[in-house]
Amino acid sequence: MTDGVIPLLDLRQIGRTPPVPHPLPPPRPGPWLDARGRPLRDLRISVTDRCNFRCSYCMPKEVFDKDYAFLPHRDLLSFEEITRLAGVFAGLGVQKLRLTGGEPLLRRNLEALIAQLAGLRTPEGQPLDLTLTTNGSLLARKAQALREAGLRRVTVSLDALDDAIFRRMNDVDFPVAEVLRGIEAAQAAGLAPIKVNMVVKRGTNDDQILPMARHFRGTGVVLRFIEYMDVGMSNGWRMDEVLPSAQVLARLREDAELVPLAPTVEGETATRWGYADGSGEIGLISSVTQAFCGDCNRARLSTEGRLYTCLFAGDGHDLRALLRGDGDHPPRSDAEIAAALGALWTRRNDRYSELRASLPAAESGPARRVEMHYIGG
Ligand code: SAM
Ligand code: SF4
Ligand code: SF4
Repeated sequence: MTDGVIPLLDLRQIGRTPPVPHPLPPPRPGPWLDARGRPLRDLRISVTDRCNFRCSYCMPKEVFDKDYAFLPHRDLLSFEEITRLAGVFAGLGVQKLRLTGGEPLLRRNLEALIAQLAGLRTPEGQPLDLTLTTNGSLLARKAQALREAGLRRVTVSLDALDDAIFRRMNDVDFPVAEVLRGIEAAQAAGLAPIKVNMVVKRGTNDDQILPMARHFRGTGVVLRFIEYMDVGMSNGWRMDEVLPSAQVLARLREDAELVPLAPTVEGETATRWGYADGSGEIGLISSVTQAFCGDCNRARLSTEGRLYTCLFAGDGHDLRALLRGDGDHPPRSDAEIAAALGALWTRRNDRYSELRASLPAAESGPARRVEMHYIGG
């Protein structure tokens, strides 16, 4: 692939060759624009690569079995390191932080990280939009503490209302009732608005589209249908298992009158539709059939501190080495890290989903793609 992928920068060299005056001038006020004119607004932070589910589209059991080598604890960024990096990102224009994983609620004492992140401010003095994506399995137990720590809202992944289908999809026999209890607990704790993400796989759970829509209509929960994506190398993705959002919408419109809604924020991934009677809204995330790379303002920080500028990237940029230093280089200052991030973002040229639509599969991406559970959704 010749377009859309930037070679990895040796970030350790930034600030070294050519020498950068020390101390560096304060980073240029945001937004930094990448090579396609896109600002950096949204940072997704994976806090663990482990998960208690084995959704076949993400961590199929055959690959992620008892012998799979998850990251050792020493390789994970500490809460202090994550917060420090998030603060540098905020200085560069990031306005939204999403904690993800793996299953983020498995990371011990996550509330402490949330409390630290909730204290961050944009250069204009505004708190960041702080949210989290979870499979909901531990939410009933944790929602109140998360809210008290400063979490503002939450996205829960739920692929079916039918218990048998749900148990099959999570592949660990986890009951749907417990996730629904988690959603109720999040509502009661004031985590709002709650979004529910449903990955639609043709032939697996597409008969759950209408039951899910009917269940959440009028509850204040925003249900979003996600096209099954070819992320990672393990899920055996096939195009014929993708149900295009246009077909999801057609099915929904047979059941209820829907009207298009305007985007609420720049770079929004979902196309929004509202029930004509005002009883709520749904979203369609069409990453396969209607690529939205054109205004993609997201970066992803892996559990061990590698930065990925695209969900479909082959490799990430090692920020942990900047934080901790290595054999050749001392730990870097915030200003040096900001300079490295700025250099990296301004070179970004990713647009994998657009290329996937226009090129044969073999030419549309790197030979190795990072796994979703490691980089976060
Ligand atoms: N474990 C948490 C969860 O499931 O919400 C957070 C991490 S998960 C990787 C983040 C999101 O990615 C989830 O909403 C999940 O459904 C979605 N996801 C994972 N694999 C996917 C795929 N192949 N296509 C589309 N969405 C996917
Ligand atoms: Fe776990 Fe989320 Fe991946 Fe499912 S989608 S296996 S819950 S990380
Ligand atoms: Fe962004 Fe996805 Fe396009 Fe990559 S493929 S640039 S993550 S929208």
